[in-house]
Amino acid sequence: MIFANHAHLYPRQLREDGSIDALLRLLDDCGIDKAVAFAPFSYRLRESALFHDVDQNEWLAQEIAGCERLVGFGTIDLLEGAAPIRDQVQKICALGLRGIKIHPAAQELPIDSEKAFEIYAQAQECGLFLSFHTGLHWHRIRDYRMLLFDEIAYNFPDLHFSLEHVGGYSFFREALLVMCNNNRDNPHVYAGLTSVEPAANGLCGPWSLTNEEIETLIFQTGENQTIFGLDFPFKKADYIRAAMARIRALRISETAKENILGRTLEKRLFSTEGSV
Ligand SMILES: [Zn+2]
Repeated sequence: MIFANHAHLYPRQLREDGSIDALLRLLDDCGIDKAVAFAPFSYRLRESALFHDVDQNEWLAQEIAGCERLVGFGTIDLLEGAAPIRDQVQKICALGLRGIKIHPAAQELPIDSEKAFEIYAQAQECGLFLSFHTGLHWHRIRDYRMLLFDEIAYNFPDLHFSLEHVGGYSFFREALLVMCNNNRDNPHVYAGLTSVEPAANGLCGPWSLTNEEIETLIFQTGENQTIFGLDFPFKKADYIRAAMARIRALRISETAKENILGRTLEKRLFSTEGSV
């Protein structure tokens, strides 16, 4: 069973190649059974006349209702006039969504701010999983430098979250340090292998990781902390198939590969005993 994280879902009127039909087609093309679908960020809906007043989490819950292949993660509206954070997180939970995607750079959310800590506190209470964008995104790095993720892990020991892109090329080592620093007795920080393929010329782009880095990640953090992600619709079927083939060819155990490609995410989001 292959279960991938990190697909951004959009209303087809806003982004045809990001629609639910396009996502299900991509899953079929890549032999993927299930995926986590993220709600759009609220600013993306606000700027459209058609979806101006639509709640992004309600929209997602409706869009994926009855589709057993998709699991929803909400997003938090940080724009002026938004509902209190606590209410938003509780609503995400009430809608049956299983986590929250946070993009500190795109949403301009300092991850150690009071607002952010309100999200973590409520998410921890509701048992929601968080996926953070990490690494380059043309925004002040001080708002989401890797060291601050250590503070989140320290302050919220029962909060489980993933570092998508594992810090990218430049912050990979720091992301690894944050994971190792917090996962010895109570593993709750995960690596998101999302958009980490090297460029066609073999060199690393801003989010690329080398095979050796991924193998080192598994060696240092174990076989239960790494989760494969799609980055749909920014990445297409060819890219995703190649990424899966690379994972299957790594010098890691078969168990580690199965865990990366779905088992860890499945256990994290759906096991009743909680920890993987
Ligand atoms: Zn993303």
